[in-house]
Amino acid sequence: INQTGLQPLDASKLKFTRTKTPMSVPEPNDPIIATASQCTDHMITAVWKASTGWEAPELRPYGNLSLAPTASVLHYATECFEGMKMYRGYDGKLRLFRPDCNCNRMLISATRISLPAFDPKELEKLIIAMIAVDGKKWLPRPGTFLYLRPTMIGSAAGLGVATPKECTLFVIATFMPPLGSPRGMKLLASQNGVRAWPGGFGYAKVGANYGPSLMANGEARARGYDQVLWLLNGMVTEAGASNFFVVWKSKQTGKLELVTAPLGDKIILDGVTRRSILQLARERLTTTSESGLEPVDIVERQYTMEDIVEAVEEGRIVEAFAAGTAYFVCPVSVISYNDQDLDIPMARGDSGEYAALIKSWLMNIICTISDTFKLIC
Ligand code: PMP
Repeated sequence: INQTGLQPLDASKLKFTRTKTPMSVPEPNDPIIATASQCTDHMITAVWKASTGWEAPELRPYGNLSLAPTASVLHYATECFEGMKMYRGYDGKLRLFRPDCNCNRMLISATRISLPAFDPKELEKLIIAMIAVDGKKWLPRPGTFLYLRPTMIGSAAGLGVATPKECTLFVIATFMPPLGSPRGMKLLASQNGVRAWPGGFGYAKVGANYGPSLMANGEARARGYDQVLWLLNGMVTEAGASNFFVVWKSKQTGKLELVTAPLGDKIILDGVTRRSILQLARERLTTTSESGLEPVDIVERQYTMEDIVEAVEEGRIVEAFAAGTAYFVCPVSVISYNDQDLDIPMARGDSGEYAALIKSWLMNIICTISDTFKLIC
């Protein structure tokens, strides 16, 4: 992690410059919230140089960055980022949900695009330092959240496809509306485009995965769907910028299964929500006792859109949902495939039973229960 002879990223060196022009916090119904552009008073920045390593990080007033038009990120997509939420619990405490997972993933993403390494624990400390300054003013109401966006960019001036000689790390916090709809998410299965491929970088949270997905996403929206269900050679991978889960009765065993695509082939993002759902489901859904629902087998494996079609036709499909920081646990009501809408059941009207239960478990952990999660202040 710490390249020899170079200065490591060190949160204990954080320099504080407080804003002299604090901004006002928008009311919950302010339209600016939907634009996800209103940031808090401060941001963290840290610069890395190939010759010296990481300079002392700074907490400073939120503001524009200055970049040379020749900066690496503007030409060669040397950019990676994270997305996480900080919550104000119903007990009044501020919490991050598993920030260690996001910071570890940031290192994986940075490495994939030749940006410098760092100790993920130091990034976590920087994020916590920022929240300690802005959390009280900007996140006062229980049950609400702010979205945190740690980002790294190749900021060295100079054209040429080469490992950036300078990198800028920054962390900002924005308002973001809760996403999802009571009618469930409608998905359009991708037939012309793929999001990721073997040997590529689907597992990394790099900007280069997102810009090129917008065309398919635009087509889905224009046709009345919410997100793309990304297929690769017919295999189901992810839904928009979320992981994807199906509950069905297995054709082979006749038992209920909670299925999601595996991480092994590095096509799929290792979602923090996905990981948490699998852990909770393995603890609480495999036996009858705790959930009150029929137990399910938890399965990470490849499966195809044809498998879903067959399960729908044979009445074996129980429900499906997308899972990620932005959409949280979001029930799916329709998947369009080969120009046909497949109806996916939502037993409770606005959700399937399993999605609703998992969502409530996660919400309890994130907003109320304190012991297993990081307390910020
Ligand atoms: N897949 C993709 C492609 C994503 O961008 C995200 C959002 N980070 C996810 C899945 C869900 O990951 P997480 O649960 O960590 O937000």
